[in-house]
Amino acid sequence: MKCTTEQELVKLVKRSKPFTKDGKVADYIPALEKADPDKLAIAVYSKEDGCLSAGDVGETFTLQSISKILTLALAIMDAGEDHVFSRVGKEPTGDPFNSIAKLESQVPSKPLNPMINAGALVVTDLIHGETSDEKVGRILQLIHDMTNNSSIGINYEVADSEFESAHLNRALCYFMKQHGLIDNDVEMLLEAYTKQCSVEVNCKDLARIGMVLANEGRDPETERKIIPRYIARIVKTFMVTCGMYNASGEFAINVAIPAKSGVSGGILSLVPNQMGIGVYSPPLDPKGNSIAGIKLLENFSSQYELSIF
Ligand code: GLN
Repeated sequence: MKCTTEQELVKLVKRSKPFTKDGKVADYIPALEKADPDKLAIAVYSKEDGCLSAGDVGETFTLQSISKILTLALAIMDAGEDHVFSRVGKEPTGDPFNSIAKLESQVPSKPLNPMINAGALVVTDLIHGETSDEKVGRILQLIHDMTNNSSIGINYEVADSEFESAHLNRALCYFMKQHGLIDNDVEMLLEAYTKQCSVEVNCKDLARIGMVLANEGRDPETERKIIPRYIARIVKTFMVTCGMYNASGEFAINVAIPAKSGVSGGILSLVPNQMGIGVYSPPLDPKGNSIAGIKLLENFSSQYELSIF
């Protein structure tokens, strides 16, 4: 299917540009505050056209919570579906991504899903590796395979900044360690988690990762299997139900395609069997989602009638 052209993407970026004036760049991780709020970019990867892009596509940014879909896939491959979901649930929360509230009210304690911080920390704990470097090495390998870009690495300034300021995530970990949900040393786990969040990519990388998921876990060029199909489906379902945190319902109505956002301002989205999409714009709404990024996806989805429903 011929979906779009770079000229059309340029027009879409222009239409969404005024929304970069809204919202606020994340500052609770000090290094993220340095992002340029005016940047806006989109990349679309399809088998027919390869990668088309518009806007500030040269900009790099860190994955932040977008990494949660990749670590979920890896943890299921490593520890098995049953074991992973014995420690983390499958339900949306309606709470902010970093909330601790439901951990205590759930009996026995268990994070509601792998897209909130508590759930993602449990998931990273289950990835094979004796050290944080071993875990992160395996996460990077998966990202290299999905993007076909082995130059992708970690932004250590962002990783260190988050590690130093991750008081809430530390609290979540120690709470869950007490409840037997975390096996490894908490500081080792936090080091792995902050590094996975600090993997540095651009929109084209996001679009290609989206395309692998859209292509049922296979490389779009070689058809090599990177992620088993059933795991790619689990990941895409979580993107729909929990990918935009406690704004996932509204996003599912307005944009109507799977997506996962991160507080750096990136959003990875896709249309099953058709395309992967990456967008980037740093200013966020109060729930931690990129305002102009969502607008851009909304306009793109409605222009090409991409709704999966
Ligand atoms: N690294 C961030 C954190 O744990 C990721 C959060 C996000 O992108 N929503 O706070």
